[in-house]
Amino acid sequence: MRELSPKYDPKEVEERWYQLWESKGWFKADPGSSKEAFSIVIPPPNVTGSLHIGHALNNSLQDLFSRYKRMQGFDVLWVPGCDHAGIATQNVVERELAKEGKTRDDLGREAFLERVWKWKKESGSTIMRQLRRLGASCDWTYERFTMDEGLSQAVQEVFIRLYDKGLIYQGDYIINWCPRCGTALSDIEAPHRETEGKLYHLRYPIVGKVGEFVVVATTRPETIMGDVAVCVNPKDPRFTALKGAKLELPILKREIPLIEDSYVDMTFGTGALKITPAHDANDFEIGNRFGFERIKIMDVKGVMNEKAGPYQGLDRFAARKKIVEDLKAQGLLEKVEDYKHAVARCYRCDTVVESYLSLQWFVNMTPMAEKALTALDRGETFFQPENWKKVYSDWLLNIRPWCISRQIWWGHRIPVYYNADKSKKCAARSLAEAAQKLGLKENEVIQDQDVLDTWFSSSLWPFSTLGWPDATRELGRYYPTTLLVTSWDILFFWVSRMSMFGVEVMGQVPFKEVLINSLVADEHGQKMSKSKGNVIDPLTKIDTIGADALRFALLSIESQTRYISLSEERLDAGRNFMNKIWNAARFMLMNLEGMPVETLKRPPVSELDLVDRWILGRLDGVTTQVTQYLEKGRDVNHAVNLLYDFFWKDLCDWYIEAAKVRLQGEGTAKLVAQRTLAYTLERCLRLLHPFCPFISEEIWQLLPKEGETIMRASWPKVELAPDEAAESDFKILSQIIYAVRNIRGEMKVDAKKQVTAILLAPDEATRALLLQQQEVLQSLGQMKVASISLNAEKPRGAVAAVAGSVQVFLPLEGLLDLDLERKRLEKEVGRFQGLIESIKKKLENEAFVGKAPAAVVDAERKKISEYQSSIEKLGKNLKELAS
Ligand SMILES: [Zn+2]
Repeated sequence: MRELSPKYDPKEVEERWYQLWESKGWFKADPGSSKEAFSIVIPPPNVTGSLHIGHALNNSLQDLFSRYKRMQGFDVLWVPGCDHAGIATQNVVERELAKEGKTRDDLGREAFLERVWKWKKESGSTIMRQLRRLGASCDWTYERFTMDEGLSQAVQEVFIRLYDKGLIYQGDYIINWCPRCGTALSDIEAPHRETEGKLYHLRYPIVGKVGEFVVVATTRPETIMGDVAVCVNPKDPRFTALKGAKLELPILKREIPLIEDSYVDMTFGTGALKITPAHDANDFEIGNRFGFERIKIMDVKGVMNEKAGPYQGLDRFAARKKIVEDLKAQGLLEKVEDYKHAVARCYRCDTVVESYLSLQWFVNMTPMAEKALTALDRGETFFQPENWKKVYSDWLLNIRPWCISRQIWWGHRIPVYYNADKSKKCAARSLAEAAQKLGLKENEVIQDQDVLDTWFSSSLWPFSTLGWPDATRELGRYYPTTLLVTSWDILFFWVSRMSMFGVEVMGQVPFKEVLINSLVADEHGQKMSKSKGNVIDPLTKIDTIGADALRFALLSIESQTRYISLSEERLDAGRNFMNKIWNAARFMLMNLEGMPVETLKRPPVSELDLVDRWILGRLDGVTTQVTQYLEKGRDVNHAVNLLYDFFWKDLCDWYIEAAKVRLQGEGTAKLVAQRTLAYTLERCLRLLHPFCPFISEEIWQLLPKEGETIMRASWPKVELAPDEAAESDFKILSQIIYAVRNIRGEMKVDAKKQVTAILLAPDEATRALLLQQQEVLQSLGQMKVASISLNAEKPRGAVAAVAGSVQVFLPLEGLLDLDLERKRLEKEVGRFQGLIESIKKKLENEAFVGKAPAAVVDAERKKISEYQSSIEKLGKNLKELAS
């Protein structure tokens, strides 16, 4: 049999296997197969992106379920790809241009886009390469990009359909504007952050009443240049006398009315609200109700314009400073308060976002949200964990129009065409179609300058990647997709929009199940960020400890909470486990030397020794449980931790140690142990494969096996009933061994020294078991069993222990410190008393007794009597010690 190299080198193993898997086509889906389909679409990372730890967790999960389902016999399609990340990518290329002293305007639209495509060709596949290093078993023949021809066609088609239905419309509205990026942003692209600001109380003189003012509180005093009114609540008694008054706008000295609207919150500030329709969403609404003019006071760069009077040409923040000084000088500044408030910022560049009046394109999401909610109510999509369902449905219930136009060049250009004076427009698939629809010549038609929000195209991802609008075989077979794995921070950006578009366009939800994974924080629960210096780079980790170790570390802590904490210790644990698997497997393989290769089959029970039956029973139990964890609740951390314990403790610490005597011996006994070991290891590797694909494959190849790759081996199934007798008999042995090890430890017996043991069995059956397993006891307990009987007396000065129903006496003549032994026995009595107390408490708890099955309650009562008899035995030994 071939050997594993003495030292585990993950880099070499992982690179070799990934290349082979991919070149053999083992990741490929088979749309023509008769197998049941299982499909996942990747949350497309940004084309500018690099694999971060969040991607590593998210893709480890997708890979786990893809591999697991393949082994279960499904035809798995995992679609990879990335999105064009409009603003981010444009920023990258603009930065490159800046180095050459150029701007995008120097190049012009067409040349600039060529430049972006060139960048994409050279640098745009970084993250897809990095996913391969993680082991991602995507079907790369289906790799898609949101700007691909087919996907772009899908975008155009959906836009036109919604436009023709009246669900996409253009209008002047207040949107979030980033003056740095020079584009509109959707509400969720402009998250609010608590900011230490100021609240300025400004005096607006009342016309005709010298020295009297209405005081208005604002955080943005520069916007008063765009005021058209001051509004108060009609119920506010402070302003009753001022009904119909006129005010003088400070600085510009324009006359504006004092108006009344119940929208105004009487408890905020002074109760008087300045109305600036072009620079605030609520003021915009009030302005519409009253028919006010909308005065825009700054340009797209955030620089004050001619409407701002003396402040023209100043940046918005410089203007704020200057205006406050001027108001103060004129006695119109009543006071300035420190004020903590939430300020919207650009999610790309963190610039303070301006509420800005602008002509933009919107999607009316309400009818689509209603359809998505109906599908949710019908249970067509379910969330894991379930609590996300409410967060998601609340969002849909309160959905607002989505601003989808962006004033950049990189993206899907809006397929709307105009005549020269823009008095006529239409949505069309081509210039020719537009010309025909508008009744013009092609050269008289102008296309809209804006592009669509990148999320518009990612919202179509589950069906655009499968070939829609064409009725492809893939669409019929893999849509709706089976599982979506994503982190919760893009639940609104992406998941909800995919649902709405899926139901609207396809008439069916895009995925049956959504698994929401955690975000990965550092060991102190802090978000990872470059500025904090606490970033764990998955690529560095793959270089040093290997992808398997990284995956194991992440999957073993993934608990579907909002954040999980990843520490260096956890990563070390991953590396240690891989080394353990390697070294233990190496040892096992050496011990399989001489075994006939065809004997992968499970040996018949009649040939097995107790430890063989026990490890096979444990293997079956773990197989059942791991499968249940992966199915129910997608509980990966419990699944992987169970495998860890099984491999490390059951297989390595107990079974191999117990089987050593036979493995080192000869004949049939040796062969049975070898066959049990080979069978257990092979199955265990199959169970481990979805979690740590590389190392499991490398070792599996050296075992007697069926098939070319572990990837295509079947997921283990349990065929036999649980061997309860083996489990309970082995428990007796392990309790004795634990007891002896404990005494050795506590009495500080030299590790190399063998001790002698006298065993006192409670009945004939147990005595027979101990006699039969004497060798195992001796080798694992490092002891010589002097006698096994039903009625041995404790030799004077021997140390005694209770191991379940068996008593163990260790005559440690000369080695024994009587005081130490008395203390130890007393401590043991105390421990049992504590256990009894806690069970009694449990049994007094009506909630427990009421709910628990009768068998469970009985088992608890039985434990009390067991512990009591242990205390009696220990008490007897204590008495003897005194005598
Ligand atoms: Zn920005």
